[in-house]
Order: sequence, then structure tokens, then C-alpha cells
Amino acid sequence: MKPSPRSLVRSCFQNGGYVFAGKAEDIAARYGFSEVARLASNENPSPPSEAAQAAAARAILSCNRYPGTTHGELIKKLQEINGSYPVVAGAGMDGVIETVVRSLIACGDRVVVSSPTFSFYGLAVGAQGGIIDYLPRGSSYEVDTESFITAARDAKLSFICSPNNPTGTVTAPEDIACILENINGILFLDNAYVEFSDVDYLHLLDQYDNLIIGRTMSKVYGLAGFRVGYAFVPEWFRPCYIRAETPFALNAVSEAAAIGALSDRSYADRYISHVTEWRKRFREEIPYPVAPSGANFVMIDLAPRTGKEAMDALARMGVLVRSCESFPGLGETFIRVSIGADWECERFLSAIVSL
Ligand SMILES: *Cc1c(COP(=O)(O)O)cnc(C)c1O
Repeated sequence: MKPSPRSLVRSCFQNGGYVFAGKAEDIAARYGFSEVARLASNENPSPPSEAAQAAAARAILSCNRYPGTTHGELIKKLQEINGSYPVVAGAGMDGVIETVVRSLIACGDRVVVSSPTFSFYGLAVGAQGGIIDYLPRGSSYEVDTESFITAARDAKLSFICSPNNPTGTVTAPEDIACILENINGILFLDNAYVEFSDVDYLHLLDQYDNLIIGRTMSKVYGLAGFRVGYAFVPEWFRPCYIRAETPFALNAVSEAAAIGALSDRSYADRYISHVTEWRKRFREEIPYPVAPSGANFVMIDLAPRTGKEAMDALARMGVLVRSCESFPGLGETFIRVSIGADWECERFLSAIVSL
């Protein structure tokens, strides 16, 4: 008999995959809320800035043409803000991660991932046939520099997320420097949330030619739906990245929105102060252990409840949060809660107190 065509799908794509947040509309309909507090995906609760909206609207008029490929204006803006480091851009930081992995990892190559953390590194590496070595964080979710170096020394590529998703943990730049000094491969430092913290790693690019710093327009600039990510890379790596990338992956409308968004820093500044205030209130008022966070979310331990039970109970009160059970290596009792609009945070606080 002919084998089912299904059996042709590679085993890494047969099960699992990225875990998406529940749909706010479904929960609203099920529990009778006109609006649900959407605190599951670390999104900015405000619409994109007016400058971003206007730039995107203008860009639509030229969409009969393929987009530009050099991203000169976007790169220039990013360098004005961050310093003149080489930049690559893609369809979300996820797209950038995928291209970095594609350019470096072949079947059987080992990649070290400090975990629990963002799941997409593992999915991208698995897609290339790479082998993922999850290195557990310590009891306060800190990266143990020494064991990381031992594990990553001869790996082509390794990942650290700081501030880390989902724990919020910030790794000190000195620790990152020490790791870069002692490994032979490339470290991808995921800085999706760095704008919400008080650390900065960019200066390390001056000293090390094995550091890639990933960034996104999805969180602080409120462009998640546009899918714009970028990375600061060593000069030598830029041409390698460009050869590996999908042609035209960053579309013209999204690129224009990103350029517009970067011209209005006050939008990001307002959101950062909002996050800083609410993060403090969350830590003071949530009656459960809250891990210190440098991001626009906090992770909460609800033991003895499981994260799934807490997520369902909160959904019944009109609040959508993320259960952390799908993060390997974390245990079952955690939820991750984003800092949303004032009304969303207020509703969450009342709900968690009555849990
Ligand atoms: C949200 C997120 C990203 C991806 O962002 P996109 O630019 O939207 O693809 C990458 N890393 C971490 C840790 C994130 O939380």
C-alpha cells in the first residue's frame, strides 16, 4: 500500500510547534465580556503612533512595486538612535532568528539555549536539523556563566534572552562579556524587551565579533502586527545574513511604519514609564511571588495551583494571561502577565486578589 503523504512531514513538525495565546474574542463570547483584558502576548496596548500609521498609509500607494532590499532609511534611523553598528532587518525578530539560524546551522550542529525561555529558538534550530542543548537557569532564573561557557564553548551558536521571556530576568552585561570572551561560537542575545530595563549591551559590539543583538518593533513601538525585527551584527556577518535571507521578507508597508515609529520617540517613552509604574505596583500588590522583571510583563508563581488552572480562572473574570506550562524546564505553577492598559491592569489586580 502507498504510505500516507502525511508521513512525509519531518518529525519535528508533526507535534508541538509555537504556542499561541488564547483568542480574546472566544473568551469574551464564552464568559459574556464585551472586552477582555489581553495580557497574554506582551503587546503594547496602544495603537501604533500616528507617525507610524501615516507612513504605512503612504507606503501602500507604491505596493505595486517590490519593496527595497537594502533598508537604508530604516537602518540609518536605527543607527542614529543606537550607534553606528551594522544592522540587518527582517520579518519580525522571529524572521531574523530564522535567517541567522539558517546561515549558521546545518544538520547535526549543536545549539545551546539558556532555558526556560522563548520557544522559537528551538523551533528554528530544529527546522535546520540542529540539535538543541537546553541549559537550565539557576534557582533565581539567573544564567550560570560558568556552566554556560562550558556547554557553549564549542557550539556554533547559542542563545540568551535578556530580559528573559518568560521570567523577566536581566543578565548583567559583564556576564555576557565574560561569556563572549570564552566561547568560540556566536551568541545571539535576544533583547526584545531591553527598552523596558535599565541595561544596555550595545557597547559589547565594539569589543566582540561573535555577538548578535536581536531587537523588535513589536513590543515597545507597538508594531506587532506589522512584523518588523532587526539585529545588530558583527560587520563580517552582515553579508552572510543577506545571502541567507528570504527575498523581500520585510514588506514595504511594515518598513515604512517602522521608520515612522522611530521618528516619534515620545510614544515609546510614554509606554516605558507606564510599564515601569505598573511593574512596581504588580510587585507590591500581587499576593504571590513575582519574579523581578526588566520587561513589560511579570511571571508569577501561583503554587499550588497550576498555571493552566489560574489562566482558566482568570479568563472567567475577563483576563487573558499566559500559562507558562509550555516553557520546558519551568514547572507547572507559573503564569506570565503583560502590562496592558490601566483598565486591564486594574481588572487583573482585582481578579488575582480574589483568586
Ligand atoms: C516577542 C518576542 C520576539 C519576537 O518578536 P517579533 O519581532 O514579533 O517576531 C523575540 N524574542 C522574544 C523573547 C520575544 O518575546
